[in-house]
Amino acid sequence: MSTQIVRGRRDLSGFRGYAVSPAGCRIDLSDNTNAWGMPPAAGQALAAIESTNRYPSPYSDELKEAIAGYTGAPPEMITTGCGSDDVLDSAIRVFAGPGEAVAYPVPTFPMIPLFARLNGSVPIAVPMTAGFSLDIDAMLASDARVLYVCSPNNPTGNAIAREDLESLVRRSSSEQVIIVDEAYAEFAGATAIDLATSCDRVIVTRTMSKAFGLAGLRVGYALGSPALVAGIETSRGPYKVSAMGERAAIAALTEGLDWVNEHVALAIENRRRLERALLDRGITAVRSSANFVWFRID
Ligand SMILES: *Cc1c(COP(=O)(O)O)cnc(C)c1O
Repeated sequence: MSTQIVRGRRDLSGFRGYAVSPAGCRIDLSDNTNAWGMPPAAGQALAAIESTNRYPSPYSDELKEAIAGYTGAPPEMITTGCGSDDVLDSAIRVFAGPGEAVAYPVPTFPMIPLFARLNGSVPIAVPMTAGFSLDIDAMLASDARVLYVCSPNNPTGNAIAREDLESLVRRSSSEQVIIVDEAYAEFAGATAIDLATSCDRVIVTRTMSKAFGLAGLRVGYALGSPALVAGIETSRGPYKVSAMGERAAIAALTEGLDWVNEHVALAIENRRRLERALLDRGITAVRSSANFVWFRID
């Protein structure tokens, strides 16, 4: 479904939202979610919920503790949301004002230019280099308030080189915020969390929707300096993570971790098998650090 805005903000006339086209095939893996389901511990946590008559905590304090245990970042450097989509949307809204620019590489996660437009910001598409690396000079030349980078990148699957991320952070100005979207970090074995905890202009976003098998519950989070986190929470508002989402996510991040790690390892093994099978057929894929593989066919 894609709804056109027919009344209201003039700058959105003709604007169309995110359109999901039916895959038209029997097995649809196009959302890159967990093919094996969710951790049994998360299912048990959901079944144990007796009532949902009360609101959850406004900013998911218990969930932040569990995320702190998983990531090693302190709770005051963590924020949560209704999926990482919500965190990205809130971050763009608070760090790029109306009329200010959000730069993002192309191809990447298609929600970013939509969030920018809906928040009155100006999306600036910056083509990646031939090998799907970050064009750092072009990203910086955009002079955008927010620089978005996705690593491993959706849809190409490759991780952005560590030295490129470091160089982007080093060469950006004190007015710029860098968002590193790590929706697939569990499959990459590398992270930029240390950049987010050491530089007060870097935000790393993560999700419970991919490796953790909880896409249907909509839980995401971000890590960054307490000041950035406070900005995102102000823009986001309270009660965005449901009581059920919070319980299941806590279970997945604690008792469910062995299950998650096991299935991440399986996904990586399958990814390698697929890459080898493609090579055997003469198809070269982009080297993936995610749970999917990107290649061109005739
Ligand atoms: C799936 C995905 C997300 C969105 O995740 P939610 O937490 O489900 O909103 C964000 N970024 C990228 C790159 C994704 O692929």
